[in-house]
Amino acid sequence: MNAGGKGLSQYRRIVIKIGSALLVDRGTGLKKAWLDAICDDIVALKTRGVDVLVVSSGAIALGRTVLKLPPGALKLEESQAAAAVGQIALARDWSESLSRQSIAAGQILLTLGDTEERRRYLNARATISQLLKLGAVPIINENDTVATTEIRYGDNDRLAARVATMMGADLLVLLSDIDGLYTAPPHLDPDARFLASIAEITPEIEAMAGGAASELSRGGMRTKIDAGKIATGAGCAMIIASGKTDHPLKAIENGARHSWFAPSATPVTARKTWIAGQLQAAGELHIDAGARTALASGKSLLPAGVRHVIGQFSRGDTVSIIGVEGREIARGLAGYDAEEARRITGRKSAEIEAILGYAGRAAMIHRDDLVMTDATRKSGTSENRKKDSAHA
Ligand code: GLU
Repeated sequence: MNAGGKGLSQYRRIVIKIGSALLVDRGTGLKKAWLDAICDDIVALKTRGVDVLVVSSGAIALGRTVLKLPPGALKLEESQAAAAVGQIALARDWSESLSRQSIAAGQILLTLGDTEERRRYLNARATISQLLKLGAVPIINENDTVATTEIRYGDNDRLAARVATMMGADLLVLLSDIDGLYTAPPHLDPDARFLASIAEITPEIEAMAGGAASELSRGGMRTKIDAGKIATGAGCAMIIASGKTDHPLKAIENGARHSWFAPSATPVTARKTWIAGQLQAAGELHIDAGARTALASGKSLLPAGVRHVIGQFSRGDTVSIIGVEGREIARGLAGYDAEEARRITGRKSAEIEAILGYAGRAAMIHRDDLVMTDATRKSGTSENRKKDSAHA
């Protein structure tokens, strides 16, 4: 029963979600020793080649301590104010703790639209990817100061699952005060059994997740199972483990009890299935034979290989890629708006900056955003345009 039979360093990219109660003490504020210990665990994973992203709760909990707000439920404006005060402290604490080992922290505050709208999703993903490339640890939270009831994730369990799928992570670790999933709430039912490994989130599993959340956090087992459905459905395994000890990640590796949820597919397959299957194309990119060969061998589509562009589309919309025979051979998410795509058609990637006036992406469609489709599939047309507001 150890991380699904794998040590954590066998995962490529891990999102770690940390609940407020682990980081913040009601009376004294931030638990510095605990934070330092988990930062040591994170650095140890990074040293072993794993990309680590953190979704850290605690802004509201810290802010309410600083502002001395009374216990109990907060009004929306109070929690927004608490988050504004708490997030500054939270980010500084993460940054200071990681910098002890010369690792930079990068703060990312997301609102719901940043993962649900394709263009903003691509932007957020690009920024987070860049942080990882530069060796920094993204410290992510919901932007609670501007989120209102209608436009919020509301809990960081599901936010973390969204981040995991967006970033193609292969493991999501939810650390809280619960060490895993039980058949019934263990504090109420002496017969409750612990579940170490969950192959699939069935309706029975969902029924086991009661409702209750602790006072400091918004999530309970319910939101953890919701997160599990999002993550595992996109090919990302999930672990629920207790963060109550120092060094909770090291503890998981040393066999501390946790529940492991099996992934149902690989992230790439899930993403590509989404691209291939869900949308009608907003436009067409007609490509030459050389580009076709490049795509077939898994490369990105560069502007040089595009002969002409049909339709009106925005960056992030799905476009159909048409081969010299006039049939669709692939689909992908446009890296440029139609207007920009036309201007760089047939040109070398190095010329993009001179043509557009800014240094854009080298690829017209990045290979991660591209999927080969079979030749018999009907090509999408510009008339059939459907705006992409779908989920990741
Ligand atoms: N975003 C909230 C905060 O940082 C926490 C949400 C949650 O507990 O799930 O305070």
